[in-house]
Amino acid sequence: MSELDDFRAELRAWLLSHCPPSMRTPPGDGEEVWGGRRCVFPSEDARRWLLAANTRGLTAPTWPTEYGGGGMSREQAAVLAEELRALGCRPPLRSLGIWMLGPVLLRYGTEAQRRAFLPGIIRGETRWCQGYSEPGAGSDLASLSTRAVRDGDHYVVDGQKTWTSHADKADWMFCLVRTNPSAPKHQGISFVLIDMASPGITVRPIQLISGASPFCETFFEGVRVPVDQRVGDEDAGWEIGKYLLSHERSNISLSRDAQSSVEEPLAAQARRYEGGAPGEPLRDASLRDRITQVDLDFLCNKLALRRAAEEAAAGRPAGSEASMFKLVGTEVNKRRRELKVALRGFAGLGWEGEGYLDDELTTTREWLRSRANSIEGGSSEVQLNILAKRVLGLPD
Ligand SMILES: Cc1cc2nc3c(=O)[nH]c(=O)nc-3n(C[C@H](O)[C@H](O)[C@H](O)COP(=O)(O)OP(=O)(O)OC[C@H]3O[C@@H](n4cnc5c(N)ncnc54)[C@H](O)[C@@H]3O)c2cc1C
Repeated sequence: MSELDDFRAELRAWLLSHCPPSMRTPPGDGEEVWGGRRCVFPSEDARRWLLAANTRGLTAPTWPTEYGGGGMSREQAAVLAEELRALGCRPPLRSLGIWMLGPVLLRYGTEAQRRAFLPGIIRGETRWCQGYSEPGAGSDLASLSTRAVRDGDHYVVDGQKTWTSHADKADWMFCLVRTNPSAPKHQGISFVLIDMASPGITVRPIQLISGASPFCETFFEGVRVPVDQRVGDEDAGWEIGKYLLSHERSNISLSRDAQSSVEEPLAAQARRYEGGAPGEPLRDASLRDRITQVDLDFLCNKLALRRAAEEAAAGRPAGSEASMFKLVGTEVNKRRRELKVALRGFAGLGWEGEGYLDDELTTTREWLRSRANSIEGGSSEVQLNILAKRVLGLPD
């Protein structure tokens, strides 16, 4: 048996004894754990599962053990992902800190910043939100105007962020601010970490058509932020902000892929509504066509993601190519959700009340959510622009 086989066997035994059986089922609505100081665990088992995962650094398997990570090699982390999937274990924690900020701190942070922030992120004790978009700066993010003016050992921050997901539940924000209004717009931006409990911060929720509203507006009035909470050099935040975005984009695509992988195949769903014997082709030829096309595109994206993961393991992480995964992953996901609605007919557009299956109500909500998916982290049009300029090298 190879070392990796030993590792797999030991890990599987450990998971079977430490992941409670109720955590080996798909999470229902609101059952995901996002951590943070104000975290309300959906169940005692969810709390126990996170605590157990923390003893082995499973929430950040490849990060160094000195910060609480798992210290695993890429190969071991791949085995972990396979075993978690095979046993149907829920992720013990979902976290912008792990998906986005952690890689930034590991690459650009000081040792003091890594020691201060990574353990809390890994254990799910601090929850982070993203302060990038502003009313006048979404796709054109570099136009952001939230100001940070130096005052001794602090910056004084004034301005407004918008679409800040879960700002009302977050403990900290990673934020892009303008530190030099005279410099060209990409060169006057800094990347700072802001404690959401700081005096001068006001958070207001925004309502959404899908019913659930993660969004907030975040206002800053004279908020004092210690200078040592700036990551990287002053005015050098654009490169760091973009590095974070490449992680956000890869993660959006990976999470769509993971979600769709565990769903009942589209053809089986269609069969439930169309009828007919198992094994027989669906009667509706155009439906067969649409399902086949979506399934194939989904599979191709999955293989491209796997290739990218292997390249990253070999030391060639995706840069601007992450835009390709974000674009294709979210657009295929949108088509898949539309198809799920279509094959249920009227039942696919239920919202509430009697007469709908739970699965049908979820289908409507997921369809609406998928529309947002191709906007968050940079819209599909913006990803096309990035691919044209930075990957294909086309002229402006
Ligand atoms: C679910 C969700 C969660 C989000 N969470 C956060 C968060 O936590 N923190 C945060 O900071 N932001 C967040 N956002 C905001 C998100 O980053 C922005 O919505 C996105 O970058 C687009 O910016 P905008 O909404 O200002 O649209 P705009 O920039 O105004 O764009 C409007 C339309 O014009 C198109 N467009 C704009 N410029 C171009 C161009 N140059 N070429 C072609 N087409 C163009 C866009 O594609 C879009 O269709 C979230 C958004 C969503 C949907």
